[in-house]
Amino acid sequence: MNEKWIEKKVDEFLVTPNLLEYDDAYKKFTWENVASEFDGLPSGGLNIAHEAIDRHANGVSAGKTALLWLGQNGERKAYSFADMKIETAKFANVLKTLGILKGERVFTLSSRIPELYISVIGILKNQNVVCPLFSQFGPEPILQRMQRGDAKVLLTTKKLYDKKVIPILDELPELRFVILLDGDEHYSKNVLSFSRLMNEASGTFEIPYTDPEDMSILHFTSGTTGMPKGVVHVHKAMYTHWMSGKYVLDLHFDDNYWCTADPGWVTGTSYGIITPWIHGVTNIVDEGEFDAARWYKTLQDEKVSVWYTAPTAIRRLMRIDSEPTKEYDLSHLRLIQSVGEPLNPEAVVWGEQKLNLPIHDNWWQTETGGIMIANLISQTIRPGSMGRPLPGIEAGIVHQNDDGTVTEVTEPNKEGDLALKVGFPSLFRAYLHNKEKYDKSFVGDWYISGDLAYKDEDGYYWFVGRADDIIKTSGHMVGPFEVESALMEHPAVAEAGVIGKPDEMIGQLVKAFVSLKAGYEPSEELKHELIGFGRKKLGSAVAPKEIEFQENLPKTRSGKIMRRLLKAREMGLPEGDTSTLED
Ligand code: ATP
Ligand code: MG
Repeated sequence: MNEKWIEKKVDEFLVTPNLLEYDDAYKKFTWENVASEFDGLPSGGLNIAHEAIDRHANGVSAGKTALLWLGQNGERKAYSFADMKIETAKFANVLKTLGILKGERVFTLSSRIPELYISVIGILKNQNVVCPLFSQFGPEPILQRMQRGDAKVLLTTKKLYDKKVIPILDELPELRFVILLDGDEHYSKNVLSFSRLMNEASGTFEIPYTDPEDMSILHFTSGTTGMPKGVVHVHKAMYTHWMSGKYVLDLHFDDNYWCTADPGWVTGTSYGIITPWIHGVTNIVDEGEFDAARWYKTLQDEKVSVWYTAPTAIRRLMRIDSEPTKEYDLSHLRLIQSVGEPLNPEAVVWGEQKLNLPIHDNWWQTETGGIMIANLISQTIRPGSMGRPLPGIEAGIVHQNDDGTVTEVTEPNKEGDLALKVGFPSLFRAYLHNKEKYDKSFVGDWYISGDLAYKDEDGYYWFVGRADDIIKTSGHMVGPFEVESALMEHPAVAEAGVIGKPDEMIGQLVKAFVSLKAGYEPSEELKHELIGFGRKKLGSAVAPKEIEFQENLPKTRSGKIMRRLLKAREMGLPEGDTSTLED
């Protein structure tokens, strides 16, 4: 036991975790057993909407709150599973009446309002494909994704329609309908009011036979490393959601679960819609944006027990020097999980100190559809590690050979490509309109993730960096995460983004962009101090040689540091696709 590791004992848990023995659970797991947890359609097929809503509405949970919605201005609305069954049936009937056929794409562009969540399930009921867009995109990224995704219907709100959709409508000849989720009246025969349509629709809908391999969701990636890719998922992906909901989010019947991710990103659909509901758990949705006081109050007032959030939010909370457990009653909170970016060890420890709970990091991608590697509630946390592969998931570190084959790296602590054995249900089925790129992601029976990592003696995975971000300096390979995490340990540093800057002598020079915590000012002195601090922590080969202060680092709208942009700007190169860049 390393002194930095965080170990939990069974009697410390408010609720007994679903998984107590990792090795045992991993060994005994089968996907067949997960399959038996599902109800299935009366016709024998499998549809997410039925498993998420209808089956609970048909049983003892009918009256239980499925969606607890918190409005921007303090409104609060609860929808039971029975309510959701009727509302989503109505919307499925709306789409059916409009003649939207199986497999056709319905895009969503909306803030987090109840109508959005009702629509997503309704779309799946009618066997259409959900294509979520992030509501803060501008017209160009919206157009580009809708064109690439063959949009037939767009669901949006009046304000977004006026501002972002009208300017691009002419370029979307295949788009048949726009439905305004907050529209009271139809605008025209193609621009329709959600409430008007819903008032005329029947509240019963029989989901037609759905093949488990039918396409359910088309998600665009975050665009951190380049042009966003359209990732195709199928109904059966929810097997992974069920498994990870049980073991990673440790969902229990009485949980109040809050996922802060927007459904414009995969975490917001996989874990902000599907997972809690297939477990029949109350799902809290907050329409508001990040605000530390609002968030702590929500955790308190809604008695949140399981909280799924992201490193960017945690770092923002860390920036503020506060004592949340003294100011708020967070006694119901029993588990915090985080995904999206590497979680610095500093953040894990901050959770322990300030929230009385460590933050559990987990790793996955839009392509994997669900969580693959995680720190489980009952298992020892090694801060800085992403954890271990979930039951049913075979991960490995592989080396790509020149002849197009791969070799698994069996030696511990040796870096390589983080790869997953194909065969788990939520692995993506295609990159839309890009078979070549899709095919290139697979070597033999491995899916190559594009991230580099290593595995320690006990099978814990440690993130090194994205393959594209790796720095080659004086013959060493340096992962930006390691350098960023070391800098974050300095009291002045709020965030750090590290790149390799081309250098004639040493190949690439390690350069860090740093934003400071409140109360610290940029200065030459602080620069020198940070360089010295880095050297002490990392050694001179790996430590940053240059530091530049920036008030805010460029990030994707989902909160990921865009190192490629830091690098392009540093080198005066074109910035490439910036559609997901945060304002
Ligand atoms: P694009 O593929 O368009 O460049 P993206 O990879 O950021 O964008 P996502 O699928 O949303 O799009 O993000 C997945 C990636 O996020 C992972 O491949 C990994 O690089 C990073 N990531 C997610 N979770 C973690 C984590 N816990 N630790 C380290 N990295 C993570
Ligand atoms: Mg990616």
